[in-house]
Amino acid sequence: MEIVNFEDSYRHKGLRRKLIDELRRKGIRDERVLNAIDKVPRHLFMDSSFVEFAYQDKAFPIAAGQTISQPYTVAFMTELLNIKPHDKVFEVGTGSGYQTAILSELGGKVYTIERQKDLFQGCQHLLKMLGYNPLYFFGDGYLGKPTYAPYDKIIVTAGAPEIPQVLVEQLAVGGRMVIPIGAEDLQVMTTIDKVSSTQVNVREHGYFVFVPMLKGTNNR
Ligand code: SAH
Repeated sequence: MEIVNFEDSYRHKGLRRKLIDELRRKGIRDERVLNAIDKVPRHLFMDSSFVEFAYQDKAFPIAAGQTISQPYTVAFMTELLNIKPHDKVFEVGTGSGYQTAILSELGGKVYTIERQKDLFQGCQHLLKMLGYNPLYFFGDGYLGKPTYAPYDKIIVTAGAPEIPQVLVEQLAVGGRMVIPIGAEDLQVMTTIDKVSSTQVNVREHGYFVFVPMLKGTNNR
């Protein structure tokens, strides 16, 4: 049985306050997003040897050669998503589950998909202990999850070479997708607003670096 220490000490809470100040300085304005980051104990989503680093504004390695996104990136994408309570949110790349927790904290009904088996399994117990109940899927996010579509919001936390049309199809009219688009080493944060069943508005929001969005699944 896996033993996890769920301690969230005053020290951790203090470090989160400092991180919030830093995110504010870097331009994050949405108080609801800052509140969510203040509530979710990021150190529990990282390998125990990285606890010291959990509240630095940096990405860190998790299992399967993947990374937990930098807090600024999580905050920036979440701000762009503008989650309303009860929004149906489809997340591609569950990873550590940290972004999943933030989306849930904001009141979204979260559907999250991961292509790495160990990551898909790894975060479910923790999220449950923290009181979050997203729907988990093991599979290829390029295919979306048509069963539950359309989604009010879609967030992709891996870099895609181009806008996946299948995901645009599964976005509700009036909905928004946030996705990093570009080459393997650099992507442009992109919002896609679906203004009608045949029309989208695409906007760019600066450069970021993500692990690549890959096709298929990895069962190991
Ligand atoms: N939001 C996560 C980010 C993890 S990194 C966090 O902050 O922890 C990106 C994740 O996307 C990885 O876990 C990777 O396995 C996953 N991924 C990449 N391509 C995917 C795809 N086609 N479908 C589902 N998940 C994918």
